[in-house]
Amino acid sequence: MEYRNLGKSGLKVSELSFGSWVTFVNQLNQKSAKECMAMAYDYGVNFFDNAEAYASGKSEVLMGKILKQLKWGRDTYIVSSKVFWGGELPTQKGLSKKHIHDACDAALKRLQVDYLDLFFCHRPDPETPILESVYAMNDLITQGKIMYWGTSEWSANEIKEAFKCAEKYNLRGPSMEQPQYNILHRERFEKEYKSIFKKYKIGSTIWSPLASGILSGKYNNGIPKKSRFTVKGYEWLADGMKDLNLKRIKKLGDIAHSLGISQSQLAILWCLKNKNVSTIILGASNTKQLKENLESINHYEKVSKSAMTKIDKLF
Ligand code: NDP
Repeated sequence: MEYRNLGKSGLKVSELSFGSWVTFVNQLNQKSAKECMAMAYDYGVNFFDNAEAYASGKSEVLMGKILKQLKWGRDTYIVSSKVFWGGELPTQKGLSKKHIHDACDAALKRLQVDYLDLFFCHRPDPETPILESVYAMNDLITQGKIMYWGTSEWSANEIKEAFKCAEKYNLRGPSMEQPQYNILHRERFEKEYKSIFKKYKIGSTIWSPLASGILSGKYNNGIPKKSRFTVKGYEWLADGMKDLNLKRIKKLGDIAHSLGISQSQLAILWCLKNKNVSTIILGASNTKQLKENLESINHYEKVSKSAMTKIDKLF
């Protein structure tokens, strides 16, 4: 496993990390989630991603129990949470100073840790001034409750605004963004954020490297019974298939085959080739998938420039 600096910060984050969206609680119980976390850690993964919204807080409870059981030194791993979708009441959501502080305290309790390494604004909140959220995040850093704060799916302009506020009032600006980035979703990361990466040198913790599994090729012949798109409450994800050109996904499989790696590994390595990516957050509903995905790091060199060009042409 290689470790990349999270943007211009000194934090070394493993190039592959592990997240809990959909899987924890819905597909993985305490035993199987623990096996996945232990396997990831043994491969050198040091970052585990979570959010107040995942399984309505239960994903953090589960991860907290597992962290306790595994007894890893607190200085050996990075754990995150995200604030935005906390609850139904007006005070339980968004990025007001109040909700940011409440969400952080609740995440610390659920995860059973003294501080969060990374704390994300899960989405932009048009109803709260950006300066208020920047102040709240800065407070949490000063209080020692979080180490770094970041954004997730904010526009480049919103991120710039956060930096302007931080500079004007001498506050800490965001250290990282968490966007979707994969072969099917490139526009924002590669074009819109270009100036952000250049000017502010923020890190990125990218999500859904397999586009929720589509890039593994598992949906090429319809929706398999035991897959994410059949998990109760997540059927809407199948909408992502509507405009999908399956021929291209199949051809991606041919490229992977010619390189002697799996289609999932190729999709992951394609993301890893981009130096603006600090870490790729993997998702997996079992240890077999996770092992395959983690093993991709052993094939980095196989994905040559010509293979990357072929993929670019294909998509
Ligand atoms: P992926 O796009 O990699 O999707 C993971 C899913 O794909 C698995 O749960 C599994 O689903 C399937 N899969 C994974 N590996 C394989 C394989 N080798 N072969 C076949 N199928 C496979 O990542 P996620 O969408 O899970 O995102 C990763 C993490 O990113 C999340 O856990 C979360 O931490 C973060 N995230 C952040 C968001 C944000 O807004 N900030 C939004 C979404 C995610 P199954 O077996 O059920 O079909």
